[in-house]
Amino acid sequence: MSTDFAARILQLRTLIRHHDYLYYQEAKPEISDQEYDALYAELYRLEEAHPELITADSPTRRVSGAPLSAFVTRKHSLPMLSLDNTYNAADLQRFHEYVSRGLGSQNVCYSIEPKVDGVSISVRYENGVFACALTRGNGKEGDDVSENVKTIPSLPLVLLGEHPPAVFEARGEVFMSSQGFASLNARRLAAGEDEFANPRNATAGTLKQLDPRVVAQRPLDIVFYAQGEIDGLEITSQAELLQKFKDYGLKTQKWLRFANDFSGILAAVDELKNCKSQFPYDIDGAVIKVDDFAQREILGMTAKAPSWAKAFKYEPERCETLLKDITVQVGRTGVLTPVAELEPVLLAGSTISRATLHNADEISRKDIRIGDTVRIEKAGEVIPAVVEVVPGKRPAGSQPFDFVAHLDQRCPSCGSEIVRDPQFVAWRCPNLQCPAQNVRRLEYFAARNALDLQSLGGVVAAALVERGLVSEPLDLFALTLEQLGTLNLGSDDQPRLFGHKNAAKLLAALERTRTLPLANWLQAMGIPEVGAATAFHLGRTHRNLAELAKSPKLLALCEIMSGQDSGLPADRLEELAALLLPLELIKSTSRKNGPPAYVTTSIGPKTAQAVLDFFAADAGQYWLRRLAALGIDPAGGTAAGEASPASGATGNLAGQTFVLTGTLQSMDRETAAARIRALGGNVASAVSRNTTYLVAGENTGARKTEKAQELGIKVINEAEFLALLM
Ligand SMILES: [Zn+2]
Repeated sequence: MSTDFAARILQLRTLIRHHDYLYYQEAKPEISDQEYDALYAELYRLEEAHPELITADSPTRRVSGAPLSAFVTRKHSLPMLSLDNTYNAADLQRFHEYVSRGLGSQNVCYSIEPKVDGVSISVRYENGVFACALTRGNGKEGDDVSENVKTIPSLPLVLLGEHPPAVFEARGEVFMSSQGFASLNARRLAAGEDEFANPRNATAGTLKQLDPRVVAQRPLDIVFYAQGEIDGLEITSQAELLQKFKDYGLKTQKWLRFANDFSGILAAVDELKNCKSQFPYDIDGAVIKVDDFAQREILGMTAKAPSWAKAFKYEPERCETLLKDITVQVGRTGVLTPVAELEPVLLAGSTISRATLHNADEISRKDIRIGDTVRIEKAGEVIPAVVEVVPGKRPAGSQPFDFVAHLDQRCPSCGSEIVRDPQFVAWRCPNLQCPAQNVRRLEYFAARNALDLQSLGGVVAAALVERGLVSEPLDLFALTLEQLGTLNLGSDDQPRLFGHKNAAKLLAALERTRTLPLANWLQAMGIPEVGAATAFHLGRTHRNLAELAKSPKLLALCEIMSGQDSGLPADRLEELAALLLPLELIKSTSRKNGPPAYVTTSIGPKTAQAVLDFFAADAGQYWLRRLAALGIDPAGGTAAGEASPASGATGNLAGQTFVLTGTLQSMDRETAAARIRALGGNVASAVSRNTTYLVAGENTGARKTEKAQELGIKVINEAEFLALLM
């Protein structure tokens, strides 16, 4: 009997590896996610019932249980060298001349590959089975990050094919796709955590995590391009190596060129530069290598780097312009953000007239002064930023910029004395009735992913606050048609009325908000740490505000997360899990030894506590009282996945699967996904036969839309997408 189980377990593992390969390497899944999950669940159940049959290379063992206390440092079997970098073509020509001289009369062939902006890693397989993964470290020894690297879903734990070599070390780059990075940051923002500056930082930070369960939730990926120690296999060129990687199921980059001379190298480097923005991940250069390994031997290496390879790095898009002034914006929570007012300049395809200066400390650190010529940079989809002052172009007699003196120590909106926020590197206006903050809160309340009051734009919000008609969002419900219709959006000299037609529209929109789901209201309230995704999950797991305000579910979440590793009695643990598991607020993960551990799925304990604190404090109590007085009682879903019965549009998208790509102007991806789910639709990360729509925002790579068209999937733009959400 047990041999039957053993055979089925082996069969399931092979099947799962096969489908992993099709999904991650070929991007051609043959089975649906549900079918895949069923295979995985069956394997998991069989292994749990027969723990003696569990092996470390089983697909179910990617995520190990307990966090490490520190990383162990290990020696690389062969040194892990970095490549010489250059930014200019003349260096590249010298490189080619050096190679040509060294090889004499031999013909040379170069491979040109995209340089992924990630973290280098060496992955070792012994007899085809994953053995360990080391970071580059100092090149001689690195950190053993095996448990973290094992969680990367596209990395095979067992090499494909028969007769693997005794030792095979594959070297490559761990990275995060632009899309994965954006949704990770959106999740962090929604959970009140700091955003990562760029995908590379996010990747490096993730690999340094000691808890593999955290790593498993981060969207890491890996590609390979070099070899370390190999025993039991002869490889003679880069082309052959890359083919071998593919045969073994190790991911490589699709873009690859070969060249025989300098002009060929330049052409490839230029071609890559022009198409690198289409890549789904960050490329910061091209790597040029002599293809033939025997020729590499002849060329040898310097003390630091091989002489047969060169990395050509692309400059990020930058330009110089004049910093005319520094203005200060007051945010919704009172944070004061300095903004550079620039002489308009064309950069990376758009005209830039403002750039962020982040905060006062950043200005002092870079000694940025009004009147300076500054370098600005626009990397990818990020907001343009001032990088540095151009030395030598500073006008005589300029003064260091003093943030506090510039503001005369007063909020530019209300004149309150500003305070230093010790928690953040920020200055803040402490006045809760500050008009600028009131306007921002009103805009936030009216935003599309909150209560969607389309006729309440920034100008109207400012006029309402300025004329003293509204100081906080719920004041809107007391407005009359007359008051709104005669609202002056212009100046006293040149009045411009809002008009009765617009006023009627806004009042109708306000009336509609009474039936909007709880999630939208939670978003509108601007609760600390609650973004679109968190609001969605709070809404789907609670019936109404009254339940949420003293939520036993959030209390349970805090208790189980803090108690499971510190002596919470087993029966209490079980009781809490029984409450939270059906709500999908937690899920269990396996541990090597001992009982399963629980991890949160969508709302962390810190956020849960922040929500409870908000409703326990005056601000939250005030919202509850005023909403009750207005007779507004937004309804949430009562069970997992069940959308609000109060929402008229519930289930519009039931059974439809969306893939989001590119940048949407009206909302971030996280919000878009939450809205699709709220209407009963599914969101997938990759296009497959099961996809209903590919939503293509700005900067969509051609590859995704081509794939969708091949599969006959409808590609829609943002406007068409928004129409579906109506
Ligand atoms: Zn103020």
